[in-house]
Order: sequence, then C-alpha cells, then structure tokens
Amino acid sequence: MQEEINEIEKLRVISELAASVSHEVRNPLTVTKGFLQLLKDNEITYDKRKEYLDYSLCELDRAKAIITGYLTYAKPSNGNALTSIEVSREIDKVFQVLMPYALMRGVELSVENIMEVYVIGDPKKFQQCIVNIVKNAIEAMNEGGKVIVNTKLKHQTLILSIQDFGEGMSKQEISLLGLPFYSTKETGTGLGIMVAYSIIKSMGWKVEIKSRESVGTTFFLEIPLSNSNSKSYIS
Ligand code: ADP
Ligand code: MG
Repeated sequence: MQEEINEIEKLRVISELAASVSHEVRNPLTVTKGFLQLLKDNEITYDKRKEYLDYSLCELDRAKAIITGYLTYAKPSNGNALTSIEVSREIDKVFQVLMPYALMRGVELSVENIMEVYVIGDPKKFQQCIVNIVKNAIEAMNEGGKVIVNTKLKHQTLILSIQDFGEGMSKQEISLLGLPFYSTKETGTGLGIMVAYSIIKSMGWKVEIKSRESVGTTFFLEIPLSNSNSKSYIS
C-alpha cells in the first residue's frame, strides 16, 4: 500500500515536473537569444563573433543538460556515466556559462583556491548541480556582490564550497530546500535545488549548508576523490 502511494506521489511529481521544465529551460534560451542578437551587428570582430557563438552553444548545451537532469530525476535508476571529473575545468565551464548572468546582476564570480584534483562523478551532472547552486547564490544578492567558490581536502574527499553574501535562510527555510516547487521567488521554479539534491544523492556525494539571514549562505559539497589523483594529494 505504502509503495502504491509512493508510486502515485512520484507520478504526480513527475507530471508536474514535466510541465515546469519549460520554465527552467527558458533561462539558457533567453541568454542564447541575447548572444544571437549581438551577432546581428556587422561591426563586431571575428573573435567576438566566435566568443558569442561559443557562449550560445554552451547555453544550448545547458538547456539540454537541464532537460536531461529532469529526465534523470524521473528515472533515478538509469546508469550514471561515472568518470573522473577535473574539478577546475568543470568549474571554469560553469563560470563561463553563468558569467553573463552574473554581470547582468552586478555579481562577481570569484574562484579562490581550486585544487587540481579529480573527483568521481558524471561531469555534466556536476556542472548542472554547481550551476543550480551558483545561480541561486547570484540571485540571493539583490544589490550585487561576490560569489566565492573554494576547495579544500578532507581525507579522501574534496570539500567544494559555494559562498554568497546574500539574504541567507532561516533553519526552517533550509529544511524546505529540495522540496519540489519550493521557491520564494516571484518567477522561481523551485526545482533547482531539488535537481541538485537528486544529483548529489545519485552520485553518492554529500551536502551541508550554513546560512545566516542577512549575512549569507555557504553550500559545502563533499565529493570523493578519484584514483586518478597523484598520491601527493591524498593524505
Ligand atoms: P528557485 O531558484 O527557482 O526559487 P531553487 O530550488 O533553486 O528554486 O531554490 C529554492 C529556494 O531556496 C529559493 O527560492 C530560495 O528561497 C532558497 N535558496 C536557495 N539557495 C539560496 C541562497 N544561496 N540564498 C538564499 N536562499 C536560497
Ligand atoms: Mg534556483
């Protein structure tokens, strides 16, 4: 009986999710549209043209990744492509994708100490998870500010932190994170953290959140190191 209820609940969430995917996909499509409009200008240099095209392609990839993320949520048991992820490279990609969005909101994306290490996971899911968390960090700072991404090692695990100096959350608000459609934003979907959490769970990573209202929020991701790292990184 409980199983049947779970199935019904799951189907309900999935059908509502399907209806909401369009919202989340709208962001990268809007950014792509912006770059394509810039490309209409005859005066721009070859280099700029190439840069805008690259951003557009990246954003379209992200739209695709978002859709894939939702489908994964609907099908949690499908195989994940677990490989070694080069952390600094994937974070660079996330920053490139979110840079125009951050600039638009007067937010600086800052990398503090990103270790040259490899972790275990699916690179596309890693990107999507970080994008969802960083995007919220950007949106938490209405007056602009700084998002700091940092890494450190704890035994065989990488601790990746994403810190903002925005509005913060109460304990109760933190406990609501990850519920489908929980959003405090006017045009929010309330799906970003749910997808991030589902990725974290399916990859066997962990997450911890520290937050203070009006001070800011830090997400700590704990991700196991891959064997590809040189011994010197593994203490
Ligand atoms: P959305 O961004 O569409 O609202 P999310 O699932 O990404 O949906 O986030 C859910 C809610 O969690 C947000 O509406 C916000 O209230 C809260 N939240 C998430 N990240 C942060 C953050 N860094 N600072 C403050 N609040 C946050
Ligand atoms: Mg969000």
